[in-house]
Amino acid sequence: SIPFGVDLGNNSTVIACARNRGIDIIVNEVSNRATPSLVGFGPKNRFIGETGKNQQTSNLKNTADNIKRILGLNYDDPDFEIEKQYFSCPLVKNNEGGISAKVRYLGEEHEFTSTQLAAMYINKIKDITLKETKGNITDICLSVPVWYTEKQRCAAYDACKIAGLNPVRIVNEVTAAAVGYGVFKANDLPEDEPRKVAFIDIGHSSYQVSIAAVKKGELKILGSAYDKHFGGRNFDYAIANHFADEFKSKYKIDVRENPKAFYRVLAAAEKLKKVLSANSQAPFNIESVMNDIDVSSSLSREELESFVQPLLEKLHVPIEVALKDAGLKTEDIDYIEVIGGCTRVPSLKQKLSDIFQKPLSFTLNQDEAIVRGNAFICAMHSPTLRVRPFKFEDFNPYSVSYFWDKEDEDDDHLEVFPRGGLFPCTKIITLYRRGDFEVEARYTNPKELPIGTERVLAKWKIEGVVPSEGESTIACKLKLRNDPSGFYTIESAHTVEEKLVKEVVEKEPKEGEEEDENAEPEYREVKKLVKKNDLKISCDSSNLPEDLRNSYSEKEQQLINTDKLVAETEDRKNALEEYIYELRGKLEEQYKDFASDEEKSKLSDMLMKAEDWLYEDGFDATKAKYIAKYEELASIGNIIRGRYLAKEEEKKQAIRQKQEE
Ligand code: ATP
Ligand code: MG
Repeated sequence: SIPFGVDLGNNSTVIACARNRGIDIIVNEVSNRATPSLVGFGPKNRFIGETGKNQQTSNLKNTADNIKRILGLNYDDPDFEIEKQYFSCPLVKNNEGGISAKVRYLGEEHEFTSTQLAAMYINKIKDITLKETKGNITDICLSVPVWYTEKQRCAAYDACKIAGLNPVRIVNEVTAAAVGYGVFKANDLPEDEPRKVAFIDIGHSSYQVSIAAVKKGELKILGSAYDKHFGGRNFDYAIANHFADEFKSKYKIDVRENPKAFYRVLAAAEKLKKVLSANSQAPFNIESVMNDIDVSSSLSREELESFVQPLLEKLHVPIEVALKDAGLKTEDIDYIEVIGGCTRVPSLKQKLSDIFQKPLSFTLNQDEAIVRGNAFICAMHSPTLRVRPFKFEDFNPYSVSYFWDKEDEDDDHLEVFPRGGLFPCTKIITLYRRGDFEVEARYTNPKELPIGTERVLAKWKIEGVVPSEGESTIACKLKLRNDPSGFYTIESAHTVEEKLVKEVVEKEPKEGEEEDENAEPEYREVKKLVKKNDLKISCDSSNLPEDLRNSYSEKEQQLINTDKLVAETEDRKNALEEYIYELRGKLEEQYKDFASDEEKSKLSDMLMKAEDWLYEDGFDATKAKYIAKYEELASIGNIIRGRYLAKEEEKKQAIRQKQEE
C-alpha cells in the first residue's frame, strides 16, 4: 500500500503520499491542495468536501463541519457548550453519551455519530487519493491535536477503521511537522548538540506549541501546550459579530436571527480577514443578505486587531507552559518555526516574535508541513519501503496511573506515565496476586486535562493467575505501554515464581596456575525468578466495541453505494442527453445520406420524445431507465452510423488504391 498521510484540519484537510522517492501532496477532484472538512446530506446522496462546501449556504441544517472538534467528545462535556455554537446542524446526545448530528438525508431524519461523520469524511479523502494515485491505499498515518484525550484518539482510530483503513499511527500534529523538519532539513541539522526549536501551529480552531530538540536523525519533544479555543474561526466570529451589530443600527436587520444570513456574513468575514493580512483596509459587501437588503461597509486592520485583542493577550500562555515543561527559556530557543493558516495574520506574527524577542522562521510550508510528516511516518511503518532512519519521541501531556484492588501490594495504584515523560515507552510493574484481577488506567490529574474529561481510559481483566503450591500469592509482571500512537495499553502479562536453578560456578584461575580444561564444572543452586505462565488479558478500551464498529462499516458501505448509484445515474442521464443532441445534429449532417426519409422521421420523432421525457417524467428516473432509453435510440442510430462508417472506409480504400497506382 502507498504510504498515506492525512492532516485532518478543522477547516480543511491535506493529503500526502510517499511515492517516487519523495512526498507528494495529493490534489482533489477540482485540483485543490486542500479539501474542505465537512459532510453535507441531501435528498439523494451526501456531499463531502468540495461539493459540500459549494452548497453549504443552501444546506446549512444538513451540513456537519467542525467534525474534528466533536470527535470522541461527550455531549455532557463542558467543552461541548462552547463547541456547539459553531454548528449549523442540530446536534443530539447519542446512546453512548457522545454527540450525533441530526440531519435530513434521503428524505428522512437520520442521526450520525461524530465517529461516523469522521469516517465518512476520511473515506472521501481515501477515495480522492485512490483516484489520484490509482494505487492501493490501506495504511494511514493520521494526525490529531496534542490535546486529544485517549477517547478522542480512539475515536480517530475507529473512524479510520470504519473507512476501511489501517491506522499504523496516530500522531500529534505539531510532532508530525517537527518530524518533517528533522527529516527534510537533515543536512542543516547539528550532529551533536541538538538545536532547540519552538514549533507553533495556529489553525482554524486551535493553537498548539511544541518545543523540540532536533539533531541529525533524531527528535525529542520536550514540552507541548495548547489553547484549545484559539484559531482563525475566532477571528471570523469577531468580525462577523462586529458587522452584525453595525447592520442592526445601520439597516435595522439582525443577521444573527437568520442562520443563512449569518453564515454568509461569516464567510465574508473570513475573506475580509485574509485580505486584511495583506492590506490595511478592505471593503465588506454582501448582496441581499436578508430581507432583500444589500449591506456594505469596510474594516481596517487596526479595527480587526482591536476585536481580537483578548485573544492576542493570551498568546503567550501556551508558550510559557511548553517552555516550562522543556526546562527552557525563550532565549534558549534557536528557531521559532511557525505553521497554520492563522499565523498569516500580521499582528499575530508580530506578537509571537515579541514574546520570543526573535524573528520567526517560515521555512516550513504553513499548510503542508504536518501532512508531509504524516506521509513520512506512514512510510517508516511500511515493511517494503526503505526510508532514512529517524528516531522521534513525543511528549506525554497527561499523567496516567494504573489502578487495581490492593491485595498483598503496598499500594492500590501507581503513576506509570507521568506528564512530561516521553513516548513510546514501556514500563514493567509487579503485583502480588491471589487470583485473577482487574486493572484500570486513569488520568491522574484532572487539572492537566480539558475540563470534564472522563478519568477512566481503559480496564483490563487479567486471568489465569494461580499461586504456586504452598503460596498464597504469586508475582504477576505486567508490561505497560504508552504506545507510538499515544494509547495506554497492557501489552503482556505473566506470572513469575522463585525457583532453585543450577548455575555454573565461575572460578577465577589462581595466579600462576594453568586453567584445567578437563576439570568438571562446579554447580551451585540459586533462587531465581523465572517465568511461570502467560496470563490472558481482555481489554475494555475507549474504542468502539467491535460489533458496533463493524455495523458502522457496513452502514458506511451502504451509503457509499447509494452515493455511487446517484453519481452513475447522473452520469447515464448526461450521456443520454448528449447522445440525443449528437444524433440529431448528425442526422442533418454526416448521416443525412445514409438514412431513408422514413428512418429519419422515425428517429427524429424518437429523439424528440426522449428529450421531452428527460425534462418531464424522466427527469428523476433510474439508472436502468436512462440506459434503456439510450439503447433504444442507439439501436437505430448505430445502424445508420454503420452505413456511414462503411462508406467512409470505402472512400479511404479508394484513396489508398489511387495512391498505389
Ligand atoms: P485546525 O488546525 O484548527 O484543525 P486547519 O488545519 O484546518 O484547522 P489551517 O488550514 O491551518 O487550519 O488554517 C485555516 C485558518 O487560517 C482559517 O481560519 C483561515 O481563515 C485562516 N487563514 C488562511 N489564510 C489566511 C490569511 N492569509 N490571513 C489570515 N488568516 C488566514
Ligand atoms: Mg491544522
